Amino acid sequence: MFLAAYVRSGSAAGWGSQSLQTAVAYQKGPARARLLRRWTRSFLADRHALPVPLANTWTISLLDRQSDLKEAICEHLQAMGKYVRAVDIVHFMADPANMVRYGLTKAVCLSTAQSWMHALEYRWTKVPSGQFVDGHERVDVVNYRQSRFLPEMARSDPHARQWDREGNAVPAPANVARPLEKPVVYWWHDESVFYAHDRRQTRWVHKSEKAVPRAKGEGASLMVADFVSADYGWLRSPDGKESARVLFKPGKNRDGYFTHEEILTHATTAMDILQHHFPHEHHILIFDNAPTHLKRAADALSARHMSKFPTQADKPLFGVETNVHDPATGKAVYASDGKLLKTKVRMGDGRLPNGERQSLYYEEGHPREGVFRGMAELLEERGYENARKLPAQCPEFKCKPPAIDCCCRRLMFNQPDFRDVETLLETHCKARGVEVLFLPKFHCELNCIEQCWGHAKRTYRKFPPSSAEADLQKNVVAALDSVPLVSIRRFYTRAHRFMDAYRRGLNGKQAAWAAKKYRSHRVLPESLLNDLDEAGLGAPGSSSSD
Ligand SMILES: [Zn+2]
Repeated sequence: MFLAAYVRSGSAAGWGSQSLQTAVAYQKGPARARLLRRWTRSFLADRHALPVPLANTWTISLLDRQSDLKEAICEHLQAMGKYVRAVDIVHFMADPANMVRYGLTKAVCLSTAQSWMHALEYRWTKVPSGQFVDGHERVDVVNYRQSRFLPEMARSDPHARQWDREGNAVPAPANVARPLEKPVVYWWHDESVFYAHDRRQTRWVHKSEKAVPRAKGEGASLMVADFVSADYGWLRSPDGKESARVLFKPGKNRDGYFTHEEILTHATTAMDILQHHFPHEHHILIFDNAPTHLKRAADALSARHMSKFPTQADKPLFGVETNVHDPATGKAVYASDGKLLKTKVRMGDGRLPNGERQSLYYEEGHPREGVFRGMAELLEERGYENARKLPAQCPEFKCKPPAIDCCCRRLMFNQPDFRDVETLLETHCKARGVEVLFLPKFHCELNCIEQCWGHAKRTYRKFPPSSAEADLQKNVVAALDSVPLVSIRRFYTRAHRFMDAYRRGLNGKQAAWAAKKYRSHRVLPESLLNDLDEAGLGAPGSSSSD
């Protein structure tokens, strides 16, 4: 605006006074005018040198400029336990060793620490008490980790190669059961966006950060999605011609991350390469717990809206809403008002305890054919003779744990066919003999691809700065390909050290301590319990909050 006004006035008003007029138009004074002149001069010298909005630039960029700072703070906070305060960051940063390490000349203030907590939001969420709580220790998250994720890993781990510090394969122990026939290879999946910010900073953004798309002028951004394994590195054919890496620019109308359909396509690309080039191994694709990964079939079993008794004659069909698709093109159909056309379909069949099919609706020939049968009758057929006497649900469906048979809906919820509904991604991969495993939420330390992104990021920053998009892509690819296989194997071993810690009953705080303390170990030593005790971290199984 300043430049346009200056040109329009035929430079009659003069460079300085025109800049002041522009500043005043924005309710700013001479200081802003000076800044405007400087910005404009640097823009004239280099068209790529657009100013970055000043608000929060420093606080965000310090956290991101210091590539290992985020990890160090996360590790420090995790070691503090389940609840932390922003002031804990202030204390951490005030440590003289840390001030030197991160090049600080003055202490970090509380408001900066608070904004950092928000930047770490994917791990730490604020509770009404004003404290930040680690999502890591949530009961449902811990349950999933202990009863689903870790047992799955334990089943396949004896078939997977393990590595020593130098990246050499370690012979597998002889006395372990091996139910699978082929060696197992884990492929860790993730997506990451990063920005080439106006030549000044590059910042990687975690997927839970909402504001992914950037306005024009804030620098180019590029999204990377890929799979990595400790056995082979990035997923590609041995000749390097086929690759599972996807690079694209987050654009309009998308949040920069994969849609559900794109995840399925990405899995297909990966499986095509794996089945063609690595047919002698059993492949397990590991995804994080993002909602787009967990999508289920439209008619998947769900007890959420079920009634206790059969649907009454004057009530609409019980079922699930789904988009109408044109049978010829397979595309969704829009109504005249521009909204997606919806239709209600029947929910799929359930499974009786003996494995037989259970229709949720009265079958052909029944006087009420096609009508939903109600939870009470469905449960009776499953052997719960008292189902009719139970309430439809406890008030607001807030059942008192550990109750599992307090109401019809809770009983239905816990039926194996309702509880373990397969995701579309699992079904998609299973059809080709490839397994899918989902990481527990908030456990980025268990996904070794996260550390690969971090390694690539540090390399990327050593390249000469450029905001040209061609350079951005070229440098990102070079940075990703520069992650050494031996490092990937160490990341893999580190993730396993955490798994070992959780398996032995350690909480997040104790696990972070152990993963650091036994850095050179592949599995945690026998002396672990004594060492924990001596470090004053208590016994495994004790919550870090008490
Ligand atoms: Zn209940």
